[in-house]
Amino acid sequence: MYTYDTLLAKVTAAGGPAREVTDPATGQPIGSAPVHTLADLDSAVARAVDARPAWVAQSDDERRQTLLALADAVEESAEALALVLSREQGKPLNGPNARFEVGACASWLRANAALDLPSETVLDDESGHAELHYRPVGTVGVITPWNWPMMIAIWQIAPSLRMGNTVVAKPSEHTTLSGLALAAVLNDVLPAGVLEVVTGAGDIGDALVRRPEIGKVMFTGSTATGSKIIAASADNITRLTLELGGNDAGIVLPDVDPTAIAEDLFWGAFINTGQTCAALKRLYVHDDVYDDVVTALAELASRMPMGVGTEEASVLGPLQNKMQFDVVDALVEEAKARGARVVLGGDPDRDRPGYFYPTTLVADIDDDAELVQREQFGPALPIVRFSDVDGMVAAANRAEVGLGASVWSADRAAAIAVATRLEAGTVWINSHGGVHPFVPFGGAKQSGYGLEFGVEGLKSVAVPQVISG
Ligand code: NDP
Repeated sequence: MYTYDTLLAKVTAAGGPAREVTDPATGQPIGSAPVHTLADLDSAVARAVDARPAWVAQSDDERRQTLLALADAVEESAEALALVLSREQGKPLNGPNARFEVGACASWLRANAALDLPSETVLDDESGHAELHYRPVGTVGVITPWNWPMMIAIWQIAPSLRMGNTVVAKPSEHTTLSGLALAAVLNDVLPAGVLEVVTGAGDIGDALVRRPEIGKVMFTGSTATGSKIIAASADNITRLTLELGGNDAGIVLPDVDPTAIAEDLFWGAFINTGQTCAALKRLYVHDDVYDDVVTALAELASRMPMGVGTEEASVLGPLQNKMQFDVVDALVEEAKARGARVVLGGDPDRDRPGYFYPTTLVADIDDDAELVQREQFGPALPIVRFSDVDGMVAAANRAEVGLGASVWSADRAAAIAVATRLEAGTVWINSHGGVHPFVPFGGAKQSGYGLEFGVEGLKSVAVPQVISG
């Protein structure tokens, strides 16, 4: 079991190239993260390959028990993990943030221990007999972003290990210590080499994808990087699962109770201070309830405390980095310049340390505004008025991405009728963004391809093999 200090000491760079890590809420230094070289990557891949035979020789039940032991280890060091995460990523300990994320890591490990992917008999008659088995890929490359650095890593690591693969993970350079801290806790349980971590920037990620020993890459991040990874995968025909950006639309039909849905709408959009792939990023509200929904959301949002992550009262935090602050700032300024109405926020205190952007609601905004058309990935929600359902569906489907969407209505059948017309990998009814370890998750259009979670997630880190005859 670790404390914050012992965990930080374990993952802090000890000699070699390093990068100072600062708290995005205060700008204060919190530690130094190692920066690995291509030679370090080679060594990590070699260790992961060497670890394969013993790991794959374990029975399915032994690996199931290991996943349960990993969940216990995460829970024993949960507070230390949450503190590292909060200080490096910026997210508050409370609300659906750091403690929630660490808890989700343990739950995901347990859920993957509970899943089963048995072989199937696909033909058994006078014409023959054929069975479909699922074999490990070998070594899986896991490349993760900075918004949910522990949970997204576990989403990939848990099924990979369960299926008998070893893993080489590359955390984002923005959240290196969080990736290393999680791995340190897991590696106290795992045999050596089964989970390796390499740190560094995009060049290390690119080199990882190009290694012939990596049979599969699980990637979560931007569409632009996903596109580069597709190109890098070509030489070795490396298998890919890509969970890329989104610009999720939420559609509020005229029969809702605005006050009753305000809190779920709020967290659908502002979870993790808006830095979530499948957050609600543009809200379309029917004219009949538009003013009431805007008022209810503004009233609720104005009461949600934003502050330094380690202050127990905070439920919203800073943006993780300056690049993301600048994106949100520019999109809101463009909306203002077009004459949109800022109902809440929109005026960051530029003298305050850290990358705090206030909770912002922008109403009476037209659909062509950049804040509607581009992924803001931060706490600024555009609210577009509509009266014609067909026009609204067309507007929602205009985006090149299609990760999630939601429909809000008192009439489930009416909501589903709209949901089936939306181009998105998941459409939630009367909520937005909830994921479950047994329910497949993946994007449509440029939000990527491949499914994570559940039995489909196990298949994604396996190679099907037919035994025929
Ligand atoms: P990136 O897609 O650049 O980064 C995601 C991961 O990929 C990081 O570990 C990154 O390393 C790595 N990487 C970067 N370049 C390559 C490459 N050529 N080959 C392999 N791996 C690479 O996302 P950003 O962090 O730059 O965020 C940019 C935007 O992406 C955000 O503004 C947001 O819109 C979106 N985003 C979406 C996320 C999602 O959950 N779908 C999560 C995060 C961001 P490193 O960071 O160290 O350079």
